[in-house]
Amino acid sequence: MKLVFLGPPGAGKGTQAAVVSKEYRIPHLSTGDMLRSEVAAGSQLGASIADDMQSGKLIGDETISSVVAHRIALPDAAAGFLLDGYPRTVGQADFLESLLGSAKLDLAIELVVDPTILIERIQRRAATALAAGGAVRADDNIESLRKRLSIYQTQTAPLTEHYQRKGLLFRLNGDAPVSDLSHEIIRRLALLRAW
Ligand code: ADP
Repeated sequence: MKLVFLGPPGAGKGTQAAVVSKEYRIPHLSTGDMLRSEVAAGSQLGASIADDMQSGKLIGDETISSVVAHRIALPDAAAGFLLDGYPRTVGQADFLESLLGSAKLDLAIELVVDPTILIERIQRRAATALAAGGAVRADDNIESLRKRLSIYQTQTAPLTEHYQRKGLLFRLNGDAPVSDLSHEIIRRLALLRAW
């Protein structure tokens, strides 16, 4: 099963992706996590993207697409995968399609959430992490967050129509309780499997 998750920062993609990944035993490939590991490891790639990530900008299509192409080629993704945070531009969606060839995507799952709720959620996430003595993501501050939301609207939101045209879009209201959303997603995926 090959899936992509769409939705603005704070929509809950990571939470739902983790549930689906466990249920279907497919790897959860979060490009944000992959890139944060590169930054933390101090790799050449990490050093070249750290500033853009911190300020909430997207990194270049070619760079991220090459990271994804390498990751998807690993044996654990042979039977399927779930992409969280990729594609984020129409160029990336086109690249993914050419990469997959006849092994097409099964579904694009989009979580729709109002921007005011997103800002509250992310600020709460940062405050909870701090209170627990943990680290706050470098881009979880109001300035970067506004930038991430605005980039989402201009560059990523057009993917909704892109996948709708292909008959691959499954949209949900991401404001519903976490477990209700998981049930709806799993019910929809069971329909795919039945075909
Ligand atoms: P968000 O919480 O904003 O959804 P992610 O954890 O998915 O964030 O990604 C964090 C950052 O990593 C992005 O703001 C961007 O700088 C970079 N990034 C992740 N995925 C992509 C992508 N597909 N294209 C370009 N940049 C990306």
